[in-house]
Amino acid sequence: MTPKIARFIAERNLPSPCLVVDLDVIANNFKRLKKALPLAEIYYAVKANPAPEVLRLLDQLGSKFDTASIYEIEDALSLGISASKLSFGNTIKKEGDIARAYANGVRLFAFDSQAELDKLARAAPGARVFCRIYMTGEGADWPLSRKFGCSVDMARDLLLAARGMGLDPHGVSFHVGSQQRDLTQWDIAIGKTKMLFTALSEAGIHLKMINLGGGFPAHYRTRVPGPDQYGHAIMGAMTKHFGNALPQMLIEPGRGIAGDAGVIQAEVVLISSKGEEDGRRWVYLDIGKFGGLPETIGEAIQYRLKTPHDGGPVGPVVLAGPTCDEVDMLYEKAGYKLPLDLKVGDRIQILSTGAYTTTYSSVGFNGFPPLKTYVI
Ligand SMILES: *Cc1c(COP(=O)(O)O)cnc(C)c1O
Repeated sequence: MTPKIARFIAERNLPSPCLVVDLDVIANNFKRLKKALPLAEIYYAVKANPAPEVLRLLDQLGSKFDTASIYEIEDALSLGISASKLSFGNTIKKEGDIARAYANGVRLFAFDSQAELDKLARAAPGARVFCRIYMTGEGADWPLSRKFGCSVDMARDLLLAARGMGLDPHGVSFHVGSQQRDLTQWDIAIGKTKMLFTALSEAGIHLKMINLGGGFPAHYRTRVPGPDQYGHAIMGAMTKHFGNALPQMLIEPGRGIAGDAGVIQAEVVLISSKGEEDGRRWVYLDIGKFGGLPETIGEAIQYRLKTPHDGGPVGPVVLAGPTCDEVDMLYEKAGYKLPLDLKVGDRIQILSTGAYTTTYSSVGFNGFPPLKTYVI
């Protein structure tokens, strides 16, 4: 937690729960990624944290934006972000929304199927299009796997077809999975992409762009390599496969920019036991899966917690949210331990929660309001 966030939380009686985002960390993460991959253009994945202050700052720093819906596009445009800086990166779009994005000046679109290509040809004639290939998501804490992308063979056929349909076959994209901790996954994906570049150039189509996706991590319970190590692994794989003829490179970081910039201020609502032998305390917080922490599904993302009693003796706990739904559990198997002195009413902080929290919080399940953000 940055001193700036710690001071903000200490000095104000903030409603709980809420998210506090430090713009200095957003800027710093952007600059570190840029430095680690100077040849890549950064398209911030808006869905990670679309707070207007965050988007405006990144725009000033020279970021472009990966958007997933016409709503994200129109929000970005309303902040004065130029349409030329937007990519419509979702492979699942309504034709009417493609047309609206195109009318607004968006010219870069993702696809992974013939039917989507048909829509693009009708609603976005002449646009630059890139085909997403699928990856396994291996090594990622939050895999995206087969919902998106197609096989390399299919991508070749689709990119070939794109030209005949009046579109500009621009490049290839992939996403190795979010919170990707295995640096060799990019090598696999870049190797597949190179095969596509070669196959298409034999057919007279010279692709120009590789979109290396997201996957850059935030700092949860497990230590992660730094941006430099990601940059090194990715550039190593790029030169290994492409030699000196490097195509235009894009990255689409979401978590890697916004994750560590945010802290959720939460409160302990109840501590109880179930009279069972393991003696574990059940700690119920005022935020859970519906309040903005659905990435705890399968205990996949394991946030670090800070309490007022850190440093004292600890014991095992089960952590759960406050709603009347049984899926609203946070951690049962992950082996969390919290101080024995923890009390009902204690304020605790959930660290590195700047990405995929506010956008996931429900609008009012059980009447709980959506997660409020303070951007400082
Ligand atoms: C969500 C998403 C991203 C961001 O992924 P992170 O792992 O958070 O960096 C990038 N690209 C696409 C297409 C996405 O859907």
